[in-house]
Amino acid sequence: MDWDALKKKYPEDADGIDKARRIHASVAEKVRKLDIPAGTDAGPASKGIIRALPYSLLADACRQAWIEVMGNEPGVDLETALKSFVADEPLPEVGKDDQDILPMFLRPAVTGYLRALREANVIPEESVQGGGKCPFCSTYPRIAFDSEASRDLICLLCGRRWRFRRVKCPFCGNEDHNTLGYFDVEGSEGVRVQYCSECKHYLKVVDTRNRVACDAETEDVLSLNLDAAAQEEGYL
Ligand SMILES: [Zn+2]
Ligand SMILES: [Zn+2]
Repeated sequence: MDWDALKKKYPEDADGIDKARRIHASVAEKVRKLDIPAGTDAGPASKGIIRALPYSLLADACRQAWIEVMGNEPGVDLETALKSFVADEPLPEVGKDDQDILPMFLRPAVTGYLRALREANVIPEESVQGGGKCPFCSTYPRIAFDSEASRDLICLLCGRRWRFRRVKCPFCGNEDHNTLGYFDVEGSEGVRVQYCSECKHYLKVVDTRNRVACDAETEDVLSLNLDAAAQEEGYL
């Protein structure tokens, strides 16, 4: 995560970004101490990577980080919260002040573990062609990077990057250019929303031809106004 780029984009939220950075570092340090299984049958054959995450260990890492950064016990079951987070479901109630803080602990726990797992379990390139879901953890992508020659989708959970067709919806496989389209939002030059009228999903597309892009996680946060615009239009 490029924290300085976030502060430049959201200067009014500099304190919140500093806090997120401290939380990220604390959680990442705890997750690095966990054992990462290597040589397992990861990849397309193991559709259950998300289901099989070591939730109680990750919850414990989050709890230790919470106590370290927040100075108190988290008032929520972090294992339940982690499961809701990966399922993209509403998070448990943790009180007004801490509700925005909660995902700052959950995200780096999941992404830190999945990235380490992915790096320890390389999967053959030929098995990753064609599909819209992440070839490693089976999560749908939310962001793509376009270059002159190609489009890469990037998984925001495990960091896997894979080649994909431009005129195709990763969610439903629709390839009809009449029902796939783009829109821009003012203030977000170089990133567009690709929407699919068939399944009503959207994808943020970062154009890397005219500027140097940040990493996918940072680009995702830099373009939150595109998510708001797409969701306002009824896209998922
Ligand atoms: Zn993934
Ligand atoms: Zn679609």
